[in-house]
Amino acid sequence: MIQSKQMDEKLIIIGTGPAGYTAAIYAARADLHPLVFTGGQIGGQLTTTTEVENFPGFPEGIMGPELMFNMSQQAEKHGARFAYEEVISITQEACSGLFTVTTSGGAYKAEAVIIATGAKARYLGLDGESELIGHGLTACATCDGAFYRDVPVCVVGGGDSACEEANFLTRFASKVYLIHRRDQLRASKAMQQRTLANEKVEPLWNSTIAAYHTDDKGELCSITLRSTVDGTERELEVKCVFMAIGHTPVSNFAGDLVDRDAAGFVITAPNGTATKTPGLFAAGDVADPTYRQAISAAGMGCRAAMDAERYLLTRE
Ligand code: NAP
Repeated sequence: MIQSKQMDEKLIIIGTGPAGYTAAIYAARADLHPLVFTGGQIGGQLTTTTEVENFPGFPEGIMGPELMFNMSQQAEKHGARFAYEEVISITQEACSGLFTVTTSGGAYKAEAVIIATGAKARYLGLDGESELIGHGLTACATCDGAFYRDVPVCVVGGGDSACEEANFLTRFASKVYLIHRRDQLRASKAMQQRTLANEKVEPLWNSTIAAYHTDDKGELCSITLRSTVDGTERELEVKCVFMAIGHTPVSNFAGDLVDRDAAGFVITAPNGTATKTPGLFAAGDVADPTYRQAISAAGMGCRAAMDAERYLLTRE
């Protein structure tokens, strides 16, 4: 049974990716004593990657899990508290403006809440997929593209992300197959033209991946490609599959307290982090359909903490 906690919190932060941890560091240093709900995947998407080479401050690169651990340590050092619980819902009392955050462990009251729950990259749902992530399967070309130099790779998807990633990967890979389930890209015309004009990109139309194959070290070495027209299959050598079939932002628990765009991203004030509900802020991939980088999420987390601090001053 869910227990009601007695003490009211000033600020609750939901999520422990770069946005949540950065918000926690700033809020803790502002003496807001934030309570951070970690959710099931502590540290977020970066804990599923290997080396991070584009986060400023680490000239030699840093492993994704280590970067996230360092952020959690920094937040804790400044006074953030962590609860290893999953948020189920948020509601707001009309008169007091207080939020009730219901989690797997209880119900908590807070004056302000920052949603930093990120977005989950979509995968195809094939057998063995979760074990392959970081071993030849990824959803981030910016993070992992440089590891695949002079080898063939593929991108799955037909949208702007797939085209952008395919173009980016041509800097490293010997060949980039663009695997799309239809015979027409969804991406903007300019992006389509740039991608299809790139000699290193070979579109494989009406195709999908039916299976992944690994070498004796457990690294991806090839895929089975299946025609979406007649079901015929063939094997294709690729050293990495870059999944670009969209992201699913995680904000269902906030119900109608936030507005979302057509893709499900939380809508925030222009250049800010306020949602449509006073006292409720959003930062990072859950509210960012465009950049989706660790550093941009961290920057937005900083802004959310500062916005929350200003909001709390108005309640004093
Ligand atoms: P998207 O536009 O939703 O495209 C997803 C692609 O994945 C589609 O081509 C879709 O195929 C395919 N797909 C979805 N589920 C699939 C499945 N189960 N199996 C195989 N293929 C599947 O997503 P996005 O490319 O990430 O873009 C999201 C938003 O961000 C868009 O509004 C986009 O314009 C924007 N964006 C803009 C830029 C830019 O301007 N530089 C860069 C990146 C993203 P179908 O086409 O058949 O549906």
